[in-house]
Amino acid sequence: MSDSPQAPRGTYDVLPVQSAERSLLIEIAEEEFELAGYARIDTPIFEETTVFARGVGESTEIVSKEMYSFTDQGDRSLTLRPEGTAAIARAYGEHGMHKLPAPVKLWYYGPFFRQEAPQAGRYRQFFQIGAEALGSDDPALDAESIALLDRILRRAGVEGYRLRVSSLGSAPERRAYSEQLKGYLRDHDAELSDEVRERIELNPLRAFDSKHPGTIEVMKGAPKLLDTISAGDRAHFDEVLALLDAAGVGYEVDPSLVRGLDYYTRTVFEFTSDRLGAQSGVGGGGRYDGLVEMLGGPATPGVGWAAGVERIVQAGEIEGARTPGELDVFVALETGADRAAAFALASKLQESGVAAVIELAGRSLKGQLKQASRAGALRVVIMGGERGQYDAAIKNMDGGQQHELSGLTADDYLERIIESLTEDMEAATAESAQ
Ligand code: AMP
Repeated sequence: MSDSPQAPRGTYDVLPVQSAERSLLIEIAEEEFELAGYARIDTPIFEETTVFARGVGESTEIVSKEMYSFTDQGDRSLTLRPEGTAAIARAYGEHGMHKLPAPVKLWYYGPFFRQEAPQAGRYRQFFQIGAEALGSDDPALDAESIALLDRILRRAGVEGYRLRVSSLGSAPERRAYSEQLKGYLRDHDAELSDEVRERIELNPLRAFDSKHPGTIEVMKGAPKLLDTISAGDRAHFDEVLALLDAAGVGYEVDPSLVRGLDYYTRTVFEFTSDRLGAQSGVGGGGRYDGLVEMLGGPATPGVGWAAGVERIVQAGEIEGARTPGELDVFVALETGADRAAAFALASKLQESGVAAVIELAGRSLKGQLKQASRAGALRVVIMGGERGQYDAAIKNMDGGQQHELSGLTADDYLERIIESLTEDMEAATAESAQ
């Protein structure tokens, strides 16, 4: 085996053939975010480790097993962000965003890092889009946030996905419930997986996520948090459901839904797709009314979600992506033609929004035409003549017809070629519209 370096385990390169679809997804998401009044925020790729240790929770798998943490030259413990919400809650407090009119609605897109066991759909560097709305505990905000992700998934062509929702209630009921669940799990400890048994005290709720057959069987009979939440939290949840109904968003109430992060309170939700394999989660989130305070900011309710870009792209059919290398114009040169003039033409075309390239590999005219066709160019401009006195031929690669322009001068050649190309392209568009 060669010892040439490879992308680190669990990471991947986004090659040009894949990037068009991803870019279009981000464009769709951005449009939907802006329509719902969300503004973009970018937090650093790394944070002080405490942001996640405190925010996401020491008992979670993310913090206990999966973080890329390191000590910098100044002896500070830093961590590559494993998720977006805790950092945004940190930024909200740090910038006094509670003084802004509530709710403050923010969206983000970028890479996240978790040292998980890589498998299909699970990476160590992955990309998320996400939305957070802070400063209001109105159930309409929960419903709006869920409806937003639902819309993005639909526009990305993700079909047959499921939305499960539940409520985790608030801290006092959750604490009491946690004790009740621990008791139940201890009574059944012989039937549980080793992993679940070891985490009974630390994080009993995670038992609901287990794929272990014995544990699944035990959990069917386990007490459900949704049955123990307060009347106020129940009313909040019912209102979220009523608003989802009003918005036409389909869902299932799933009392066994738990999320892998500690900061959630009240509403939680998850979108899954059966087009994905074992890693079926497309996106998920919930309400986190104590998080900003936990990170030193003022008491602030909030709700949001994150969705995996790789998973949406895999589960979806994003239409309208420009194929990489799709070219409007290839500028070819006859032997001895003025390269600077051809260069100026390509650059002028790019400036006016036309995808154009100039020959750069020293090919013969025949070779250039072959390359133009390989690159999928719709038209080729063949520049001829000499400095100051040009002629040009515009060749339509589709039908093969060609028309000539002659007697072009240094003053008018750009204008005349572009005018002729534009007429040609407009005629083709009109024809294809008929
Ligand atoms: P979470 O932040 O764990 O709630 O994850 C939200 C979404 O991010 C999931 O539904 C996935 O779509 C995506 N995601 C989380 N972890 C990974 C990973 N390791 N690789 C790829 N996508 C991920």
